[in-house]
Amino acid sequence: MMCGMRAIAIVPGRPETAGVIELPEPPPSEGSILVTTRLIGMCGTDVEIARDGYGVPPPGEERLVLGHESLGEVIDAPEETGFKPGDLVVGVVRRPDGCAACAADEWDMCRTGGFVERGIKGHHGYGSERFRLDPRFAVALPQALGDVGVLLEPTSVVAKAFDHAERIGHRARFEPRVALITGAGPIGLLAALLACQRGLETHVVDLVTEGAKPGLVAELGAEYHSTAVSELPIAPDIVIECTGLGQLAVAATRLAAPGAVVALTGISHSDRVSEAHPDVMNKALVLGNKAVFGTVNAARRHYDQAATALAQADPAWLAKLITRRLPSEAWPAALDKRPEDIKIVIDMAAPN
Ligand code: BGC
Repeated sequence: MMCGMRAIAIVPGRPETAGVIELPEPPPSEGSILVTTRLIGMCGTDVEIARDGYGVPPPGEERLVLGHESLGEVIDAPEETGFKPGDLVVGVVRRPDGCAACAADEWDMCRTGGFVERGIKGHHGYGSERFRLDPRFAVALPQALGDVGVLLEPTSVVAKAFDHAERIGHRARFEPRVALITGAGPIGLLAALLACQRGLETHVVDLVTEGAKPGLVAELGAEYHSTAVSELPIAPDIVIECTGLGQLAVAATRLAAPGAVVALTGISHSDRVSEAHPDVMNKALVLGNKAVFGTVNAARRHYDQAATALAQADPAWLAKLITRRLPSEAWPAALDKRPEDIKIVIDMAAPN
């Protein structure tokens, strides 16, 4: 009988509290599928939780168990769930409230803000040795994906950005040919992958000229630039902005082709907020019939689209996105991203 398990936890806003805690086994009320955790991916949101106090622990608790990017293996599941022991599975981040969007499995578009997010808002994350899932929030992955399945959640965010950009584009005749991705972090690289899979001529812009990023972009068949966005010799039909820098959003919107759609996926850190003149954006949008939209999280269908996208990608390319692997005891080191890091993962099964 298993009793008690290790979990990676923190008091939001207090990085010095980052550590491993003991947690009781997940209660059956959390779902009929019992999962053993393989990997947890760390992202900018986890760093914001640690440093800026973003994130909310469960009611009455001081610590939050992290881990909204998960990958696990089913230990036990009722037959009617379609899962069996050994299956690879990823947990959905959001848990819906009662609004109409959430009821339609579009919890990413929640109207009330009453949702909770595992590992971020009001609910512990998947960063414990085991977790439970209700089948509605369990995404099956092909076995062949193995460890790169941990990239499913960030890929779902990008799948949503494209899905919504295409839906918005189709308000009129829309035949996108060129995509611009700003930022070559994990989200930007996955966005470049999905753009290439769509057959778009894909351009990625990022500040760095060294390290793995330029090569990873080239391997996709996309073009890497480290010049200013305003100087790029292209007119993109779809822009996926992945840096959260408002100035880049404005520059990319001005650069974009008439009728283009610009998806903003990142948020600025308060110390970097600049006052770009809103009239510049206004003019580019009106005279170019362009649309800019913000996007966060992902609906159920985007997780499934992301699973398909990962299954069709080159596994060796995906594996190169995971640049560091830490045992759970060492997880706080993931809060200090090195310049060469793309995706850092915590190996929850590794002996400490
Ligand atoms: C996660 C989303 C989440 C968002 C805001 C992101 O890092 O990928 O699922 O909705 O943070 O909390």
